[in-house]
Amino acid sequence: MTQLAQALQQVRDKLAAAALAAGRPPQDVQLLAVSKTFPADAIREVYAAGQRAFGENYVQELQTKCAELADLDIEWHFIGPLQSNKSRTVAELAHWVHSVDRLKIAERLSAQRPAAMPALNVCVQVNVSGEDSKSGCAPQEAPALLRAVATLPGLRLRGLMCIPEPSPDPAVLAARFGVLRQLQQQMAAEGMVLDTLSMGMSADMAQAVAAGSSMVRVGTAIFGARHYPA
Ligand SMILES: *Cc1c(COP(=O)(O)O)cnc(C)c1O
Repeated sequence: MTQLAQALQQVRDKLAAAALAAGRPPQDVQLLAVSKTFPADAIREVYAAGQRAFGENYVQELQTKCAELADLDIEWHFIGPLQSNKSRTVAELAHWVHSVDRLKIAERLSAQRPAAMPALNVCVQVNVSGEDSKSGCAPQEAPALLRAVATLPGLRLRGLMCIPEPSPDPAVLAARFGVLRQLQQQMAAEGMVLDTLSMGMSADMAQAVAAGSSMVRVGTAIFGARHYPA
């Protein structure tokens, strides 16, 4: 077993244990391997160990890796901040976008999604920590944005995503993740089914699973430390 395959297995084991501890079936939690800054060879290795969903933060990197790895049936997730002028590339290459935080970007992605491709899966990113520096719409703006995104023909609205500020306090993390869970329930009450809560990273994946995450986005715990700013 390669080092990457071993790290992947450890993450899978940790997620399964967290799910069981929360009384949830392990298969309810999907693993997104966040490969930003790591080369195509590393992705191939993790793919060979059975991983199919990979996440990228930078449009240019997504584009390069899609080309380098075109022979593999990878499910590509774009999870980074998205500028309008780069939305077309993402609309043409990604299977999922987790970082929709305003209607304008959703409208562009919908319009730019090629008609021959299935609708682009999207999550609305919510700022659950209230920090100015983080992207994501405010929790109170989320319902209106979700209703609008749900009407766009090129998109398939799947759920919500958040990146809470790092915290050593499990109660703080539970409260942050809880904002997403509450929004999911609020929307369910008006008949909107959101099947995805994209939450949890290397440092807080177990807490996220306990709080109801259905997709964790894990980079460092699989690929190791990143060597340039990300
Ligand atoms: C980098 C990144 C991750 C993965 O973070 P790790 O701490 O390395 O697991 C997850 N989600 C987003 C949006 C990221 O940018």
